[in-house]
Amino acid sequence: MTAEPTADLIDGKAVAADLRARIGEAVAGIAREAGAAPALAVVLVGEDPASQVYVRNKGVAAKKAGMRSIEHRLPAETGEDEVAALVRALNDDPAVDGILVQLPLPAHVDAARIINEIDPAKDVDGLTETNAGRLMLGKRGLVPCTPQGSVMLAGTARESLSGLHAVVLGRSILVGKPLAMLLLAENCTVTMAHSRTRDLAAVCREADILCAAVGVPRLVQGDWIKPGATVIDVGINRVEEGGAARLVGDVDFEAARARAGAITPVPGGVGPMTIACLLRNTAVAAAHRRGLAAPEI
Ligand code: NAP
Repeated sequence: MTAEPTADLIDGKAVAADLRARIGEAVAGIAREAGAAPALAVVLVGEDPASQVYVRNKGVAAKKAGMRSIEHRLPAETGEDEVAALVRALNDDPAVDGILVQLPLPAHVDAARIINEIDPAKDVDGLTETNAGRLMLGKRGLVPCTPQGSVMLAGTARESLSGLHAVVLGRSILVGKPLAMLLLAENCTVTMAHSRTRDLAAVCREADILCAAVGVPRLVQGDWIKPGATVIDVGINRVEEGGAARLVGDVDFEAARARAGAITPVPGGVGPMTIACLLRNTAVAAAHRRGLAAPEI
């Protein structure tokens, strides 16, 4: 009996741990040369439980990497101008290297305005119009963390991404669009698909690199995968199964694994890369602001 072909697992936890170790070394170097450790400031408005966990995890990860972590927790009813004033104060604070405003913000606060108050040199989420524009123009800037981590993981499965056909499912500002730009910068031929795409299955079957960032549990079926493809599953979806809550991706993992060449699991794939890339951006921003050479991480 021949065994079912099984894709290689792309171990995001291991890749992220390796990256974090290198970031730790770079941070120590920056602290030595500049006389102070890089500092990451995180702003949380409101009491959203998931956001509280994310903010705590980011603070812990920053400290583990040898950085200074600064948290600003504001009540849910804080006015937009007050949030904007805090961001401007952090922009002006020479001790702060990176600023992250945890999303989502409460409905009465205009997230786009607040994000664009962040000094692009400190915009470690890479979401300001300046950094989004730089990515579009192929210029150096701070790049959104989840797309950055996704491309790194794809790179671990392939000798080169150049010339490969990448299909990106999802066109959000946070993930899909920047991911498509990064893959283009790697010389992939990029197709962007979304909720209006006709015959999504056929589009996916063309992909050497298939990145799913839609937020629909197991949307991508096994027979949508080109045999041997690299599958990067960005989705994190909480589902109730057998009376228990669990996390699943946007890809039907078991079915896809029988056809793909390599695939990221959920959890343990793209997720761990997001925080690692946030730390990477903070180290890069710190080096740049202090006139040091960009760390090779
Ligand atoms: P989003 O803003 O809701 O965008 C979803 C995108 O998927 C949209 O462009 C939408 O198309 C498209 N889409 C939705 N349903 C579709 C369908 N049935 N067929 C084809 N396309 C469809 O979500 P997001 O912020 O990009 O996040 C996407 C997923 O990634 C979520 O599961 C999220 O939890 C996860 N995520 C993970 C990380 C991480 O660290 N691993 C970080 C961020 C997000 P339209 O534009 O046409 O509406």
